[in-house]
Amino acid sequence: MSVLVVGSIAFDTVETPFGKVEGALGGSATFFSCAASLFTDIRLVGVIGRDFPEERLKIFSERGIDTAGLQIVDGDTFNWTGRYEGDMSQAETVEVNLNVFGTFDPILPDSYRDSEFVFLANGAPALQLKVLDQVQKPKLIVCDTMNLWIDTALDDLKALLRRVDGIILNDGEARMLTGQDNLVVAGRAIREMGPTFVVIKKGEHGGLAIVGDDIISLPAYPLPVVKDPTGAGDSFAGGFMGYLAEAGAIDAAAMKKAIAYGTVTASFTVEDFSLDRLHNVTREELDGRLAEFSELLTIR
Ligand code: AMP
Repeated sequence: MSVLVVGSIAFDTVETPFGKVEGALGGSATFFSCAASLFTDIRLVGVIGRDFPEERLKIFSERGIDTAGLQIVDGDTFNWTGRYEGDMSQAETVEVNLNVFGTFDPILPDSYRDSEFVFLANGAPALQLKVLDQVQKPKLIVCDTMNLWIDTALDDLKALLRRVDGIILNDGEARMLTGQDNLVVAGRAIREMGPTFVVIKKGEHGGLAIVGDDIISLPAYPLPVVKDPTGAGDSFAGGFMGYLAEAGAIDAAAMKKAIAYGTVTASFTVEDFSLDRLHNVTREELDGRLAEFSELLTIR
């Protein structure tokens, strides 16, 4: 089953202790679609400006990503400048220019409206809601969010939470949204706001999910070198949703495997800058790392 994604397509300038890239391809929808296309067909909804080189669209076409929902409009493409220091657990936003993403009015092509799996990647909750208004009867709707929207668009975010099945967010965001320090308590409090499941990412410490009454907890895949954490969250979501759509299942067992797939997908992204590593990962490599990860978790 195909997955519809709406989110940002960006030029990222990123500095980490391992180096710097300028104007690299990024954005929440870009990382998500590259990750999820390892599993299934992707329908992309997004916007770019006239400055976006046609050559760079190849990254989507080479992966078979459907870009019927991609708008090219007058103006500049969204860009984000971020920096990571020390253990790189937190991105510091140095500069953000929403440009064409700030006025983006997502219009879904008719061919997208029957999408059964929908991922609302990081973007304004009002924009995420607009996309939901245009899909017919999805089987699974999952969203992401960030501190910016918790701060500036809380009412819209709460309206969104009443309409989604699941949310994927990081530990800091979960604490900020609920005022709870304990992540199990925070996860349960977010469930009370609407979603039936909540996945909380904890960076190098893995992930925790509250699925109905069940708790799922997995570590991160241990990597000796992390060069650039940008896109880890979106790649996690791509692996997670991609696997669920491929399996056509959304029960607790499938969720656990989806979290494991999300974890290993993200582990490839952070091995290099931008999409340099993720774009070259094969499904065999991904499955090989999943097998290693499963072995690591087994106690005999
Ligand atoms: P993450 O997976 O959380 O590391 O997401 C990184 C991506 O989010 C980068 O490629 C940025 O271009 C993108 N990004 C940063 N700020 C925003 C924002 N306010 N809205 C949408 N996307 C953003």
